[in-house]
Amino acid sequence: MHKTIIEPFRIKVVEQIKMSTEEERKTYLEKASYNPFLLPSEEVIIDLLTDSGTSAMSANQWSGIMKGDESYAGASSWFRMESAVKDLTGYPYVLPTHQGRAAEHLLYGRIGGPGKVFIANTHFDTTRANIEYSGATAIDIPVEASRHPDWETHFKGNMDTDKLKALIAEHGAENIAAVILTVTNNSGGGQPVSMENAREVSKICSEHGILFILDACRIAENSWYIKHWEKGYELTSYREIAQEMFSLADGCVMSAKKDALVNMGGFLALKDLDLAIQCRTVLIITEGFATYGGLSGRDMEAIATGLEEVFDPDYLNYRIHSTAYLGKKLIEMGIPVIHPVGGHAVYIDAKAFYPHIPVEQYPGQALACELYLKGGIRCCEIGSVMFGKYDENGKLIPAAMELVRLAIPRRVYTQSHIDYVVETFEMLLKGREQVRGFRITYEPPFLRHFTAKFERV
Ligand SMILES: *Cc1c(COP(=O)(O)O)cnc(C)c1O
Repeated sequence: MHKTIIEPFRIKVVEQIKMSTEEERKTYLEKASYNPFLLPSEEVIIDLLTDSGTSAMSANQWSGIMKGDESYAGASSWFRMESAVKDLTGYPYVLPTHQGRAAEHLLYGRIGGPGKVFIANTHFDTTRANIEYSGATAIDIPVEASRHPDWETHFKGNMDTDKLKALIAEHGAENIAAVILTVTNNSGGGQPVSMENAREVSKICSEHGILFILDACRIAENSWYIKHWEKGYELTSYREIAQEMFSLADGCVMSAKKDALVNMGGFLALKDLDLAIQCRTVLIITEGFATYGGLSGRDMEAIATGLEEVFDPDYLNYRIHSTAYLGKKLIEMGIPVIHPVGGHAVYIDAKAFYPHIPVEQYPGQALACELYLKGGIRCCEIGSVMFGKYDENGKLIPAAMELVRLAIPRRVYTQSHIDYVVETFEMLLKGREQVRGFRITYEPPFLRHFTAKFERV
């Protein structure tokens, strides 16, 4: 056995990276008000901001782009996508959307509203925003292990089912609009959810007549962990594992920008006809006709192909191992990384990396900015900038953790790019006591991390 798991693809088309100096990046970052989201991408050397929509498509997907049928109604590309989604999920009603949050808006806008409660292992930021925007409440109940970044526990993405039962008793089943399992649990550190946990959640929901929805963005990556970590799945294929998990829920929302290996797209798929019809009405008003949603025919072709390619064992093995490679190197250097390393990203505990920066001064933002200055690496804060709230006195209610996410785009970077990231961290280790935090000078009311502006304390 070789110890290097190579990228299982050759490169046919390349995209130039513009190199820059630290001096230049200082100016760029100041101009972007110390928010990496506001940087033009050409000022970035390695872009680990997100794994969303940043995948490299395959030759097969690109040839599908030429075959895209752009008919307004009943395009052949739609039937290909619909059949790919139905085969995978087993759900009979599929609604195409321009991305995941549009599917969330259709469903959660429909079943949400004031007085309603949603419960999840952890709501992703757009999920929470869509729910709260409808007037409903979103409650996160990850298992206890998820709050301990240094525990090596498997399946830290699981939901705490005792808390789920208690919340159902407290709020009444009729007030719970849906229970959502995010697989893998993106905001919770990219941690997987076990089949056993999904089965338990499914059982509780059906006993109480509560809708159970999968946020299935990374269901293929989640399947890798079930096959390799959970007893009884050693001989089951990744795809069959995903199919089993879908069968436990009443429907799913999916951002195709993740495990469908495309740059844009998403869908909502449901078991229930009535609910599907209600959502479809809004789909037609806000997204597009029922056989394209917000998508071009060519996008739908690429999604259909991507949903097949993502379950390829060689791809998934490389995917999970290449992310773990970065995590392992950082751990060896003593960087506080969330254990175990998740499927699509390495999460760093910024509070532990910069213990001298108080949470009110956003240690995660400080780390994100240092990575950019020293290496031109762009990444994302997942802490109190993203999830912080204020109490009545305007004092920050911090997030549970101050994380920085290095998200790995699919099939885009090679091992030498990742080695460069590791070297940048070596630089950050020196003089880290001198790094200062930030204060926010501007913020919008929702999803503030995208457009907030900062200045150094
Ligand atoms: C990306 C993502 C979404 C939203 O999807 P978009 O395509 O970005 O709108 C929802 N949930 C999770 C877990 C995600 O990772």
